[in-house]
Amino acid sequence: MLQTRKIPICAPVLGERELEYLTKCIRSSWISSLGPFVGEFEDKFAHFCGTRFGVTTNSGTTALHLALVALGIGRGSEVILPTFTMIASINAIEYTGAKAILVDADPETWNMDVSAVHKKITGKTKAIMPVHIYGHPTDMDPIAEIASEHGLRIIEDAAEAHGARYKGRTVGSLGDVGSFSFYSNKIITTGEGGMNVTKDQELADKMRWLRAHAFGRGGKHFWHEALGYGYRMTSLQAAVGLAQMERIDDMISRRINHARLYNKLLENLSHDKIILPPEMKWAKNVYWMYSILLNDPSERDNIMSWLSERGIETRTFFYPIHRQPYYAPRYGGESYEVADDISRRGINLPSGSGLTDDDISYVSENVLDFFKRN
Ligand SMILES: *Cc1c(COP(=O)(O)O)cnc(C)c1O
Repeated sequence: MLQTRKIPICAPVLGERELEYLTKCIRSSWISSLGPFVGEFEDKFAHFCGTRFGVTTNSGTTALHLALVALGIGRGSEVILPTFTMIASINAIEYTGAKAILVDADPETWNMDVSAVHKKITGKTKAIMPVHIYGHPTDMDPIAEIASEHGLRIIEDAAEAHGARYKGRTVGSLGDVGSFSFYSNKIITTGEGGMNVTKDQELADKMRWLRAHAFGRGGKHFWHEALGYGYRMTSLQAAVGLAQMERIDDMISRRINHARLYNKLLENLSHDKIILPPEMKWAKNVYWMYSILLNDPSERDNIMSWLSERGIETRTFFYPIHRQPYYAPRYGGESYEVADDISRRGINLPSGSGLTDDDISYVSENVLDFFKRN
């Protein structure tokens, strides 16, 4: 088959502004984490999330780890999270020595089944980590209720959901800490990078201290009272982040418009052949990944190759944590049927903010053609 087009799943959108700020950064010689760029990026993004403090890191994974450590979570603690998520969510818990407790997915939102959380609470539970999968927020009120009842912390893994809203409130501001990733395929990028946002100044200060080797205070610089980390973001990354912040609203509306167009063009397949992505009444989905479920899971590999032959990149859904070779031996005793089901049936279609309506139409036509083929 002659490939006339190449449509990537999720390419970054970079422009002159990024170059301009990077150049400014290099000319200023502020290329480590010192200097004005990092703080400015933290303030802008924290404000965007409706929080007060931002603490950048060198990845989304290290942001999650730093948040857990700063909240005092370690050996002997338990943290509840969904089994249907990207591997970094649980890895961050694993690094602390705490035990991760899995819950199944919700069949409608694909996020954690919030009704299953209370059954998992023990005397050791310290925190809940909801993950806003593919840009759709988790139903947070029931989680907040359980957390306040049992004195638990909430760490939102918002790596896929910059700007998503739950009942009008921006994700990242709904728990104790919101962790974001700025990896190159995320909604905004710094190449690699992450950030924790919080309203708690003391917690922000602690995260700032721990991310930079826990250097001593009060004049004794090379004096360390805690185990610190080398988790700082560079000014070069923050300069790119500042340029991305100028277009974040536009990037999100482009994704939402693409999702609407996909929904319209694929509507005729809906229910019979595929399930379109969720958007609950109380949610603003930012569609990090425009994702569909196939009714017949045995079609998944076929449609992915069909689209690939036509230059269209797709991805399978995440394999749930309880199926991952590294974690499976510890989580074999329980079944997570919804996570297994959506993981077998789901694919992500091209979703980057830089796609055109014409790209979306091309992808949709090829999806329609696949189901017409015999
Ligand atoms: C991307 C992602 C992360 C990790 O971010 P990195 O910046 O790649 O470390 C964590 N959690 C979720 C849900 C993600 O999608």
